Order: sequence, then C-alpha cells, then structure tokens
Amino acid sequence: MDKQQIAEILENIQVFLELKGENVFRARAYQRAARTIEGLEEDLGEVIKEGRLTDLPGIGKDLAQKIETLYNDKRLPFYEELKASIPGGFLELLEIPGLGPKKIKAVYDALGIKSVTALEKACKEGKLEALVGFGKKTEENILRGIAHLAEYSKRHLWWEANEIAEEIVKGLKRIKSVTHAEVAGSIRRKRETIGDIDLIVAAKNGAHVMDWFTSIPEVEEVIGKGETKSTVRLKGGMQVDLRLVSEDQFYFALHHFTGSKEHNVMMRQKALAMDLSLSEWGLGPEKGKAGHLADKIKVKSEEELFKVLGLKYIPAELREGLDEVTVAEKGKFPKLIEEDDIRGVFHNHTTASDGRNTLEEMARGADEMGWEYIGISDHSKSSFQAGGLDEEQLHKELLKIQKHNEKKLSKSYVFTGVECDILKNGELDLKDSFLKELDYVVVSIHSVFNLDEKEMTKRMIKAIEHPSATIIGHVTGRLLLQREGYKIDVLKVIDAAIANEVMMEINANPRRLDMDWRYWKKAAEKGLMCVINPDAHNVKGLGYYKAGINVARKGWLTKENVFNTRGLKEVKKYLFDLKKRKGG
Ligand SMILES: [Zn+2]
Ligand SMILES: [Zn+2]
Repeated sequence: MDKQQIAEILENIQVFLELKGENVFRARAYQRAARTIEGLEEDLGEVIKEGRLTDLPGIGKDLAQKIETLYNDKRLPFYEELKASIPGGFLELLEIPGLGPKKIKAVYDALGIKSVTALEKACKEGKLEALVGFGKKTEENILRGIAHLAEYSKRHLWWEANEIAEEIVKGLKRIKSVTHAEVAGSIRRKRETIGDIDLIVAAKNGAHVMDWFTSIPEVEEVIGKGETKSTVRLKGGMQVDLRLVSEDQFYFALHHFTGSKEHNVMMRQKALAMDLSLSEWGLGPEKGKAGHLADKIKVKSEEELFKVLGLKYIPAELREGLDEVTVAEKGKFPKLIEEDDIRGVFHNHTTASDGRNTLEEMARGADEMGWEYIGISDHSKSSFQAGGLDEEQLHKELLKIQKHNEKKLSKSYVFTGVECDILKNGELDLKDSFLKELDYVVVSIHSVFNLDEKEMTKRMIKAIEHPSATIIGHVTGRLLLQREGYKIDVLKVIDAAIANEVMMEINANPRRLDMDWRYWKKAAEKGLMCVINPDAHNVKGLGYYKAGINVARKGWLTKENVFNTRGLKEVKKYLFDLKKRKGG
C-alpha cells in the first residue's frame, strides 16, 4: 500500500471513531498521522525497515504498528472491524454536504436516526430544532444538503465524463465502417458538469456499431438498443446515448445535439429569415414555401453549415444561446485562447504543504508540459489541515527555489509564491515583511465560510487591497457537486481587483472551475486580467490547466486576456514592476 492509500484509511478511521463517539483526541490522532504519512518526503518502506516510524511527528507505538501492518499486509483487521460496525446508513449520511460525524452522532443518540430518509423526515417535522447545538438554520442546511445530494448524484464532472467519452469515441473510430464519430452535448460545449454523454456517429454498417456499443465492457445495463439510437448505463452510473445518422445528416445532427436549446432556437430563426428550415435532419426550403434553394443543402463540415446561413463559425463552447449568433452575423469573432498558448502556471503545491510531489518533481513536470516557468504556492500557516507553512518554513522553501534556479535543476524557471490565507478580518496570514520577499502572492479563503455576503465581500476586498496581493485564488470556494461557494458579491470583487491591479485566477481544478465562465466576458472587457492555474497537488494535476482553458473559452477570453500566455522574460518584468508600483 502506498502513502496515499494509507493516509486515506487513517482519515477514515478518524471519521468512524468520531461517529462512534470515541474520545475526540484519540480520533484526531489518526488525522494527524494521516497528514504526516501523506507529506513524508522519504520512502515509507525505508522508514519502516529502519524502525523510524515513531520518530515522525504524531506517531506513537500503536499507530506505527497499524501503519506497518497496512504497508506490509495491505489490510488492517482493526479498520475492517471498525468499518463493519458502522451502519450503512451512516456512510450515506456522511455524503450529505455540510454534515459531519459529530452532528450525525448527535441526531443518532437523540432520535435514533441512521438513514437519509429518516433524517429528512425529522428535519421537516422540526424535530432537530430541539436538540442542543441545532437550530432552525441547521435544519434548513441539512435539507438543502439532502436536496443537493440527490441532484449531485445524477451529474458528473466534465473532466471525468470527457475522459470516458473520448475513450468510447476512440473505439468507435477504430471500427472500419464508421466514417464519423464525435462527442456532442454539454461535454462538447465544455460545461462544468455533465448529465449524460451524447455521441453522434455515421457508419456504413450501423447494426455492427450498435452491437459494439452495447457490449463494451464498461456497460452495466443496456437501457435501449435500436437502429438509430441506443442508450447504455456504465458502471459508475454515467448514461451514454449514441445516435446513428446518415452521412448527409451528420453535421446537422452534430450541430443540433451540441447547441443549447436557446442556441438552436436562434439558429432556426436565422434559417427561417432566409426561408430555410434547420433541424437535426438537415437544412432545406421551408415546407410549403418556394425557397430560393431548390434542394436540400449538403454540407461537409460545421463551418459550411454556418457559412450557408451567413455566419462565421461559432466555437462549440460558445453555443449557449447568449449573443453568439448576433456576433457571428457581424463576423467579428475574437480568436479564443488555446491550450498551446499557455507558457507556465502559478498556483501549485508541493510536499512542503499538502502536495504529493516535491519541488523538483513539479518543476520537471512543467518541463514535460513544455512550459517556461512554474510558480510554487504552498499553503500558509492558518491552513494547518493542509500542512500550511509559517514564515520561517516558507523562507526555507524560498532559498531552496533560489538554489534550484541557480543550479538550473529544471528547464523551467521556478517563481516563489504562496497561497496565503485570508483571515476572517480580511488580513493576510503572513507578515508583510515576508510577503515582500516573494515573486507573487495568491490570496484565498479557506476558513469561516459562514459570513454573510456583505462581510465576506468586505473580507475579500480588504485582502485585494493588500499591496502584496497578486492573484485571487478560487474566488467563491465552490466545490462542484459537493458544496456551494460561500456568499460573496463577485461583481464587486471584480471591480476591486481591477482597481488594485490584482489578477483573478481560473482555478482549473475540475471540481472548482472558479471564477465561473459566466462572469468572464464582461469582466475581461472591463479590464480584469486572468491567470489560468491548475492548483496542482501533484505532477498529474498540472494537466488540469486544460479544464481552465475550457472556462476561458466559454468566457470568450483571448490569449491577451490571460497573463500566463506571456513568455518568461515578460512575466518576470511585469511581476517586478508591479511590486515596485504597489510597494508590496
Ligand atoms: Zn486553496
Ligand atoms: Zn491551492
């Protein structure tokens, strides 16, 4: 078992012990040990062999033994017994956003509740209100959490859905008789979450395609199998629709099943104005009217489809039914940013805080991506649950980075930064004198999420006004399909950022995608500078920047709107000048 897996089990033990009402300190000891193991820079096997586990912070004899057993036997009887003693309903209750083990234990003790249905009923009957530490607000929060649980379980993150869709399309394209196979729907529009996967296929042997599709190993259930449409549910719950169309129909179907409802309405209206009728079947003279085009129109690409209607090509990401059709009429489309435009990223973590790879590994990861630079921004001390660092520890990291750059241990240049917590009162978590030493500072909220909108906005703006603030991290703190963001007036934050020359990140972690694409077009027009950051906690996480490109494109951003499309020299100069200007 590796460090990560062991840490996860230790964390589960903590939750289960708290659920059982065991001594809190005993439970927390497991959490602390999980952090230690997760952040261990040395090889765990080596440490165990040399009997040095008990030298590590927070690991006593008993914990050392359990870790050793997990490492050697890949299982721990103590954990298995503990888990078996937790009723299944409790595990389900743990999934409710905002409901922790302590509260679950309290409602169980007082009311004997151990299932989501029973909890929902009790909330509606106002039974929780009477309990100590609960109130009307808690009840409302729990009900909202339960509603989200149902809604969330039906949807999937774009990143995960896209990976699966791409694999299936690859398989389809390997079939000889298939002439076209593409992903359509909200995956192609790069929406942040996805209901189900839509595939459009043209093939000479349709029956063979349907046989292949309904029998791929990932299929759990065939919901429907027909000549033109089949639907399957995959293991893990995702639903996939495959539509088989004729060669002539392909681009019309692809367009139709990609666009939002609103987009398709606008496109049909555009066609109608030309006495044409547009649908998933094709484009031709409107029924009963003598159109100026005698036959059905054939197109060999989506570009042609738009052209026939007198429109510039509308990138799939923009087909949301906003103002894209009007813009395409005038022929003034900006050249949207592309993956290859990125030359480096800024918000990343290493093993110094809660990352899984070292500074050197992350820098080499940036080399692999073909980038010119990478910024390291580990957590600050208030984020103790994420192994946050104080000034002294961060100073050591800074020296390490300087040495790394001097010795040219990677091709990419490493910028020194920090992800500094914004405290409840809007002050930053580290001394001004230290923040000045860094190349840049990402300011983020990681605690006290329950302020009202006014207070939260004030808190964020105070941080933005700090002379050392360079980038706003994940502005709303939302976790897609897990929890809503805290309440904050994003428009006011945008104005403050522009006024104080602070950049706004697109946090490209597939679960965040924060700031949301819906704000970007207007914000960029006003002058907000964007940075696309993967918030990578390991080398693989650097690849998340691609999800950030999706958000940027949906927000109509060009290369010029995004800071990290600039080359190393320009970035160095900009950050240096900015500091001088602001005195940060
Ligand atoms: Zn963060
Ligand atoms: Zn972070």
